[in-house]
Amino acid sequence: MHITDIMRQDPPTFSFEFFPPKTPEAAETLYQTIRELEEYMPHFVSVTYGAGGSTRELTHDLVERIKNTTKLNPIPHLTCVCHTEAEIDGILTRYAQSGISNILALGGDPPRGMVYDKSADAFQHAIDLVKFIHRFNGTGAHPDRRGFGIGVAGFPEGHPATPNRLVEMDHLKAKVDAGADYIVTQLFFDNRDFLDFRERCLLADIHVPVIAGIMPITSISGFKRIAELAGGARFPARLLRALQRCDKDPAMVSRVGVHFALEQCHDLLDNDVAGIHFYTLNRSDATRIIFDSLGIPRQRKGAKPVTQSQVS
Ligand SMILES: Cc1cc2nc3c(=O)[nH]c(=O)nc-3n(C[C@H](O)[C@H](O)[C@H](O)COP(=O)(O)OP(=O)(O)OC[C@H]3O[C@@H](n4cnc5c(N)ncnc54)[C@H](O)[C@@H]3O)c2cc1C
Repeated sequence: MHITDIMRQDPPTFSFEFFPPKTPEAAETLYQTIRELEEYMPHFVSVTYGAGGSTRELTHDLVERIKNTTKLNPIPHLTCVCHTEAEIDGILTRYAQSGISNILALGGDPPRGMVYDKSADAFQHAIDLVKFIHRFNGTGAHPDRRGFGIGVAGFPEGHPATPNRLVEMDHLKAKVDAGADYIVTQLFFDNRDFLDFRERCLLADIHVPVIAGIMPITSISGFKRIAELAGGARFPARLLRALQRCDKDPAMVSRVGVHFALEQCHDLLDNDVAGIHFYTLNRSDATRIIFDSLGIPRQRKGAKPVTQSQVS
């Protein structure tokens, strides 16, 4: 099913993001997480895509494993970085044959630890990938005659590479006009940024659903890592003050972070959000606590609530 079909039937959507594990231990943690979160019947789960060859294969394998061995609906991320048209065509063909319904089309982060010449990539921006997938959809290679549903990224606080926010919105609109049918946002900690972004999308004549990206903070080290990865993310003083009060107590930090994310989710639901996408970092505890406190019985068939003390 395309995300837009799911949204029409059962809004708002709840979804989880995973990254492909690199070690057997990390794989074990992830599969345990998937088993625990499957009980919550998310509308979809997404799998990130790295820049290196071997991690990319792990993404394809994980997506197919989730599709074939669980009841979850996996959405692969796909990026422009270091790809030729033939490679992207091969990946799309493989996903189409596996019955994958949606793709999140992204520019992609540059690879680390190697010289990278972006100008050598066949696709310079996510819009080029969106156009390519849109053309692929017209070939009839997908079992769904419409082809893949196409998601793209949105940045409520702005993307660092485009300081001009009007121009940035033009780029986002161009992606939607080229065939993207939903937007998933970068994580944010101040809902006003998301709500304002959603309104700016409407003013720019962008009328596809905007799914909010939420990442609960569960440790001070994780919090610092977020600041590094989601460059430009704004941390409200209220959150920083609460974390500073307890930064010597890891369990308390986690409770504060989870509580903050829960408040964000309640407020987003009150504001008719199209969907909430949890950046899980392959752990289930924080997401489960939030879910159990949101009052969404439909998602919870058979799920066992976790207690705050289980979060580490
Ligand atoms: C929900 C989500 C999931 C993500 N998952 C991954 C992942 O799995 N793997 C990964 O590597 N990265 C991932 N990222 C990170 C993302 O790929 C990077 O932040 C990337 O820099 C931006 O991606 P984009 O798809 O918005 O790229 P683009 O749309 O290409 O935009 C990148 C920059 O270029 C500008 N731009 C766009 N079009 C044009 C144009 N025609 N001319 C000039 N400038 C233009 C934009 O304004 C923006 O500043 C994710 C981000 C989000 C929000």
